[in-house]
Amino acid sequence: MGRRAERWRGPLSTQRFGYVSPYAAGLRCRCPRCGRGHLFEGLLSVRPICEVCELDLSAHDTGDGPAVFAIFLIGFIVVPLALAVDALFEPAFWVHIALWLPVVSLLAIAFLRPMKATLVALHYKNFKHHYGPG
Ligand SMILES: [Zn+2]
Repeated sequence: MGRRAERWRGPLSTQRFGYVSPYAAGLRCRCPRCGRGHLFEGLLSVRPICEVCELDLSAHDTGDGPAVFAIFLIGFIVVPLALAVDALFEPAFWVHIALWLPVVSLLAIAFLRPMKATLVALHYKNFKHHYGPG
């Protein structure tokens, strides 16, 4: 095998950082290209540039996708539980409010970050040309 063939390792993005699963990067809230840099600054704000690989993340476009998926998932979890609690204990309405409002709020906070990160990673994987060279 010639020396030139050994030097070629593919495009820069895969050569420098290897394959990063968009689902693994999303669940860990990491950069979709390098898998190491933190994706968020604050609760849900995506960093403009990755701190490790300097990927320009300003091109991400997840829209309302994370909120929609969070609503579906939280609904699948909370609605059956609320119905079961109501059928078993028949609590007053204020008990449902006092019980489920904090649960829904905490689940929303817990699910929105990884869902948004996963959608950013999938957007990066499928629309790399939006993110500039490299
Ligand atoms: Zn990165």
